[in-house]
Amino acid sequence: MTEDLLAFIDQTVDDAIQDLGRLIALPSVAAKGEHMEETAQLVAEMLRGVGSETKIHETSGCPVVTGEIDVGAERTLLCYDHYDVQPAEPFDLWESPPFEMSVRGDRIYGRGVADNKGDFVTRLWAVKAFQETGTEIPVNLKFVVEGEEEISSPHLYEFVEDNREWLKADGGIWEFGGSGIDGKQEAWLGLKGILYVQLEVEALSHDAHSSLACVLPSAASRLVWALSSLKGADEHIMIDDFYDGIKPLTHAELEALSIIEMREEDVKKHYGITSFILGLEGDELKERYYNGPTCNICGIDTGYQGEGSKTVLPAKATAKIDFRLVEGMDPDTVLKGLRIHLDQHGFSDVKIAWHEGYPAAKTPVGHPFVELVSKANEEVFGHRLTLQPTSPGSGPLYLFDALVPMVSIGCGDFESRAHSPNETILIDNFQKTIKRMVVLIEMMKDY
Ligand SMILES: [Zn+2]
Repeated sequence: MTEDLLAFIDQTVDDAIQDLGRLIALPSVAAKGEHMEETAQLVAEMLRGVGSETKIHETSGCPVVTGEIDVGAERTLLCYDHYDVQPAEPFDLWESPPFEMSVRGDRIYGRGVADNKGDFVTRLWAVKAFQETGTEIPVNLKFVVEGEEEISSPHLYEFVEDNREWLKADGGIWEFGGSGIDGKQEAWLGLKGILYVQLEVEALSHDAHSSLACVLPSAASRLVWALSSLKGADEHIMIDDFYDGIKPLTHAELEALSIIEMREEDVKKHYGITSFILGLEGDELKERYYNGPTCNICGIDTGYQGEGSKTVLPAKATAKIDFRLVEGMDPDTVLKGLRIHLDQHGFSDVKIAWHEGYPAAKTPVGHPFVELVSKANEEVFGHRLTLQPTSPGSGPLYLFDALVPMVSIGCGDFESRAHSPNETILIDNFQKTIKRMVVLIEMMKDY
């Protein structure tokens, strides 16, 4: 049976790529809020095209599209994807227009081919393979496709709150993934949480002549002093109780890490550095990568940065900061801790504007669904998945915690350049990712 399905995929991969092209042609950049309704409509149409019952759920932001194929099976598989993409700027660095899909050599190019319109199409096409070959789909399928992932899913909780029962499933495939630097397929089992804030200081009613710095307060200095109180040169984050409650990695996670190659020398070369912070290497580097929180300055804005000199004492200064949070940390607690810290260090004048915040979440390494996905991968790619206990990045996985065990796999690769110009996937990975989904759907009936 599976042979027919796999043959269908080999014969129709070009059509699947054309389908992807239709999605890429809509510049659904969530940050700009353009073409969102239109893209949601196309996603719904594509889901209907593979025989699913489709709904467009309005939220306070962009709509969430769901699809369901209920075959009355015992098991249910859910897929989470997003139809929004990152901005394509800077346009001049693209070798072909970002919103016109282009196939060159063994690769497909376009904004969203890897993150994550390509993954969505592989999942659809797997369902299509069952239908077009007249093969019974052995599990119930559910699709959740949101439109605000790239801006931190600010309204997804509304949808999840209203649909908790519906979302329950025996296993879920999260949006992204692919092959790593060694060419082997990886699965990401978790995502870190985040707290993103802006610090603001307004020391004067308006900019002053810099000669007056002898008597007037400086917003820029106030901000820099406040920032330097947050983290020392030893990389220690100095907010009281910041590290309290962090869950250490489990034995099973440490075991999974022991077979992961960090390729330290390649990464150093990639970023043009001679060493990682604190001279980290080996197990310590890994532990920090997978279970280390951060306090990172994303940007500082104050005063004059144009050509030549302008002697000015700026009235205002701002900084954007993100804290990546690991299991056991709570964004509200960190936010409160930050306020207390600034007050105690004499920075009550530094205001905090909250941008976003949510906790980390993980599916345990030893979960039977993880094993099943790894087996499906072996059938198609010839090897077990490399299990990454968590991604160092963040996402709204916590919303699905306790509803469905999620594994993140996809059609990307080490060269995919997600979020960057010339975003790309390998045709071969795209094709095999469809097959892996077919095999997983088949295997899930005996799960
Ligand atoms: Zn992304």
